[in-house]
Amino acid sequence: MNYMLKKRSVLLIYTGGTIGMVENKETGTLEPFDFDHLLNEVPELQQFNLNIGTYQFNPPIDSSDMVPDHWVKIARIINYNYQRYDGFVVLHGTDTMAYTASALSFMLENLAKPVILTGSQLPIGTLRTDGKENLITAIEIASDYLPNGLAKVPEVCVFFDSQLMRGNRTTKISAEYFQAFASNNYPSLAHANIHIRYASEDHFLKTPEKPLNVHLNMSRDVFIFSLFPGIQETQVRQLFNTPRLKGVVMRTFGSGNAPQKKWLLDCLKEAIDNGLSVVNVTQCSTGAVEMQRYETGVHLSNIGVICGHDITVEAALTKLMFLIGEGYNNKAIRKLMQTSLAGEITV
Ligand code: ASP
Repeated sequence: MNYMLKKRSVLLIYTGGTIGMVENKETGTLEPFDFDHLLNEVPELQQFNLNIGTYQFNPPIDSSDMVPDHWVKIARIINYNYQRYDGFVVLHGTDTMAYTASALSFMLENLAKPVILTGSQLPIGTLRTDGKENLITAIEIASDYLPNGLAKVPEVCVFFDSQLMRGNRTTKISAEYFQAFASNNYPSLAHANIHIRYASEDHFLKTPEKPLNVHLNMSRDVFIFSLFPGIQETQVRQLFNTPRLKGVVMRTFGSGNAPQKKWLLDCLKEAIDNGLSVVNVTQCSTGAVEMQRYETGVHLSNIGVICGHDITVEAALTKLMFLIGEGYNNKAIRKLMQTSLAGEITV
């Protein structure tokens, strides 16, 4: 069969976000509007030789309101439509897009088709919108297949401002610029300029041979906390006493360092010995945690803090939610947090 001649199909899942918003003339605030309207704003979509299906969240939501139940909903929609479509484009607010992309990368095990998240900084109905460009190219990438019938991008990605990035490597970096996302610790998977130039094959996840396996249990018993100069014992103790808390992303200094206060190490050790998984993620936007590099890091390692390597906070949090939700014990969580499951860390 000549796979290049096959008419491809893409499912557009509209969750909400600026891309589909209009200005309320009375209050001046941006509010979501109907998806049909979005399609009217982009008549160019009809020029694609594709079958484009749509699914709309009702009501559409600002991504600041996203919770794990919404990720489950997106994963379910993809699972339900997996055989019918060649690719999926998820329109999503930019604020928490990196969390959703990271979560989906763990929830959609053995993904062999593109799942591309995109959105925009300016609503699609405005003159200078970045939304059209993002949407049109995301659809093109989601329907891009190799002559052998395999998807070019068999993974969850974010496409934004001409760049295709592995979803679980992204972070929102700007509330102002069209370049709203960065993948600081992993190269872009494609640049879309006059041509869409993909990175070489070895940058992508391998197309799995096993069928899609969707995981829908995401634990909520997790927390992110940042160290800062002057952090107090009562604050940390109160956090670790949170009922049912099972996983914590601890944002440390530099290459994974923490103040060498005895009380902090005691608090951490006690919590870890009682079953809490604590992952060490750097506050720096690039680079990795190396716990053997400084004495402060070695102490953390000795009491059982897990090295997060070069993972983003978004990926560390959602990976913990996933592993705890799947019922792994502490030992397995420690091992899997340091294993690349969906290309989220370099080890
Ligand atoms: N507040 C919006 C959202 O995340 C911002 C955006 O879409 O850019 O839904």
